[in-house]
Amino acid sequence: MRPAQRQGHGLDFHRLSVDPGRPLILGGTTIPSDLALLGHSDADVILHALSDALLGALARGDIGDLFPDTEERYKNMDSQLILKAALDLMQKDGYHLANVDLTVMGEVPRIKPHRLAIRERLSELLGLPLSSISLKATTTETMGALGRKEGVGCMASVLLLDAGP
Ligand code: MG
Repeated sequence: MRPAQRQGHGLDFHRLSVDPGRPLILGGTTIPSDLALLGHSDADVILHALSDALLGALARGDIGDLFPDTEERYKNMDSQLILKAALDLMQKDGYHLANVDLTVMGEVPRIKPHRLAIRERLSELLGLPLSSISLKATTTETMGALGRKEGVGCMASVLLLDAGP
């Protein structure tokens, strides 16, 4: 018999650079900015942390197992596909998502002006009401690499509930 609930957490970081030609995408939402996150995929640090939290709750490895960054076909891939793959596994394993709690870490970009738009996009992607999607942000008080604006991090926490028969 499977457990009635499972919790998971995910953590991700991506380097930040000034690149007006590359979109800055956070939580499936394009943020108007000259800044961009660097990575093999579209580097959506929120969706990566969230997808890893889902996989973690299911004990299904991590997103690097599903989408190796050594594979050319995943270059610049839309991270919504990564999230979709994790949600498909969740459904296959007989769970549904109860709530998500996200914390973005870094000095820039400021999350607050985009918080509602990102939560609304996540609501669509996850099929959850806004009241079940928390998005928080913190700086590191200028300490360390994130404090020097070299990158952005995100921590995600999820709770899954047994979806029933
Ligand atoms: Mg990542």
